[in-house]
Amino acid sequence: MSNSEPASLAAESAQASPPDEPAFSSVLIQPALGDHLFRGTIRALNLRLVVALCTDLCQDAALRHHASPAAACALGRGLVAGVLLATLTKTEERVTIQIQANGPLRGLTVDAYGDGLVRGFPHAPQAGLGADMSKRQRLAPFLGRDGVVHVVRDIGVRDRYEGQVSFVTAEVDEDVEAYLRNSEQIPSALGCELIMDPAGQIVCAGGVLVQSMPDSPPETKLHLREVQHMLRSGDFFDMCKTRPRSAQDLARFIAGPYESSLEFIDQRPLRFQCRCDRGRIAAMLRGMSLTDLDELIAEGKAEVTCNYCAVRYEISRDELIELRQSLPQREKN
Ligand SMILES: [Zn+2]
Repeated sequence: MSNSEPASLAAESAQASPPDEPAFSSVLIQPALGDHLFRGTIRALNLRLVVALCTDLCQDAALRHHASPAAACALGRGLVAGVLLATLTKTEERVTIQIQANGPLRGLTVDAYGDGLVRGFPHAPQAGLGADMSKRQRLAPFLGRDGVVHVVRDIGVRDRYEGQVSFVTAEVDEDVEAYLRNSEQIPSALGCELIMDPAGQIVCAGGVLVQSMPDSPPETKLHLREVQHMLRSGDFFDMCKTRPRSAQDLARFIAGPYESSLEFIDQRPLRFQCRCDRGRIAAMLRGMSLTDLDELIAEGKAEVTCNYCAVRYEISRDELIELRQSLPQREKN
């Protein structure tokens, strides 16, 4: 666990915005379509602001994993939290959020990357089947009261931060917020909401992360608390229910009376996309023992399903034989 460094990184990322970056108002002329994330600051308060619309990627994830509405909701909140967190730098960055819980959903795993790609899976996709999630959902009955949030943050090649917190409310977003507060020691407000119709279809998924940076004025704490209230009281849920088309609409909502102080850093598209391919599957098979490989060859093929994206790979008998022949002759007994 590392306590102090991420706070200074948060500061660096805000300073990375050169003074001649376009003002917030100048980007309003080109509204983004599809899932996207907006990074900015509320300059007057020295607050870092990240907002994201993730409707399509959350729906994509739910369909891939045949997730129940409850599992889709939990995974969706995890995916949104992941993309919000993977924004400390402009360089290569990876955030893994793993939730282990004692309830029927058991947990979820999410991998989010600085380039806007994210992947993830629910640990028990069919749990909570039949539950109506079309109102503002509570996940605690599905995730269970006891659980942990484990976060690994990789920033470039040298820096890696890791921390773990116990559940605060089992609502995913509040627990990830607690991780930021307790483990990384950054005053933060983080909220993720999914709006679902009675059939379990996701009609809007949105998220907000607001973090105070060093040397903030006294009003910052007050506004941060105000944002937390918006996120927990259902105001942000109601905002997402209006199906905003742009993350900037969410940014304005969160800035409230400080809207004129919003400054744009960057915007990036978001997408559910896995890192797996046949090459990685072959590499995994190469790690198996020769005995296990021989068994697969005898079975005639190997079927491997990627946990993250549920894509199924079929490796033919010929490919397995070729793979086996390419291996050094180890454990030949
Ligand atoms: Zn995959």
